[in-house]
Amino acid sequence: MANTFLNGSNILFTQSEIEQRVNEIAAQISIDYRGANLLVVGILKGAFMFFADLIRKINLELTIDFIAAQSYIKDASTGNVRLLYDPLVDLSGKDVLLVEDIIDTGLTMSKIIDIIKKKSPHSLKICALLDKSERRVVDVGIDYIGFKIPNSFIVGYGLDYEGRYRNLPDIKVLVSEDND
Ligand code: 5GP
Repeated sequence: MANTFLNGSNILFTQSEIEQRVNEIAAQISIDYRGANLLVVGILKGAFMFFADLIRKINLELTIDFIAAQSYIKDASTGNVRLLYDPLVDLSGKDVLLVEDIIDTGLTMSKIIDIIKKKSPHSLKICALLDKSERRVVDVGIDYIGFKIPNSFIVGYGLDYEGRYRNLPDIKVLVSEDND
């Protein structure tokens, strides 16, 4: 994907469509976690925008932390996950909700699930904004899904290509000039 570009025509989900879906998921989480000891763990960096919007709409007392894992070189899944930041809080007794931007092969999430499970949380559920299920290599149970999407490379709303486009308010498909 050497030469890439974005224009107005490749929006997959608009700001308002995202907002509406985030509100729906947050409402469901607010019901499901009533009375729980909820700890929402955001997976950096890609989930930061979704995470910030989601927790503001969850109508419960909760705590937060982050986990940072590097799994990607440019746009190819390597299957190798390097942990860059490990949550410092004690997870025992916590109802952990992992928040991810996108689940593609599932390799990153399955490694993160293994790491979190070793910390003995009371419960563990997964929330992903985007699900590219046709690319799945490892089975990952996702409890809350924003949108199921086809197999294209997505940017915006926290997702990047080589560090760019994270600040875009819409979710877009990155178009390669080689495909034209
Ligand atoms: P997986 O391990 O499931 O293959 O990939 C998960 C990670 O790969 C995501 O957290 C994200 O960082 C990155 N990723 C997968 N697909 C895309 C995509 O379409 N766009 C962007 N920007 N990142 C992606």
